[in-house]
Amino acid sequence: MPPKPSPNYLAGYPVALADQVQKLIEQGLLADMLLLKYPLAHEVRTDKALYDYVLESKGTFLRNAGQLSKVAFDSKLHIIRHALGTHTSISRVQGTKLKTKREIRVATVFKEMPLEFLRMIVVHELAHIKEREHNKAFYQLCQHMQPDYHQLEFDLRAYLTYLEATG
Ligand SMILES: [Zn+2]
Repeated sequence: MPPKPSPNYLAGYPVALADQVQKLIEQGLLADMLLLKYPLAHEVRTDKALYDYVLESKGTFLRNAGQLSKVAFDSKLHIIRHALGTHTSISRVQGTKLKTKREIRVATVFKEMPLEFLRMIVVHELAHIKEREHNKAFYQLCQHMQPDYHQLEFDLRAYLTYLEATG
């Protein structure tokens, strides 16, 4: 069987940009560049800490967007192109009310990532509470919560490409 192709985290970007990232990885420069740009680690290591962190962000931007029933790190979550985190929402009728159970899961690898990348993934998953699809409204909401969202997502994808290339 041929080896499984590695995920292309930069598939949605112009080829020239993706090539630039590839070059920086080959030259051994990418990780240092990103660490210079994002030197801050974070202390969000447990599910409880993640829950508090997510709730704080939600309180700032999406106070009225319903309750979160669960927030957790997930080590089984493989980082693939569209699942850096997951957000699930199950609606059911309870008495006369429609209750929605919402969960946010974040890949465990984010424990060891710069603060900005954790923030980016949390913003991404929070935005899914309001917008299921990756559409224009979704990205507008992301940018509202995190003005440099697009740059962060690109840098995160560059970092994931680096991790994939170096093991
Ligand atoms: Zn998404």
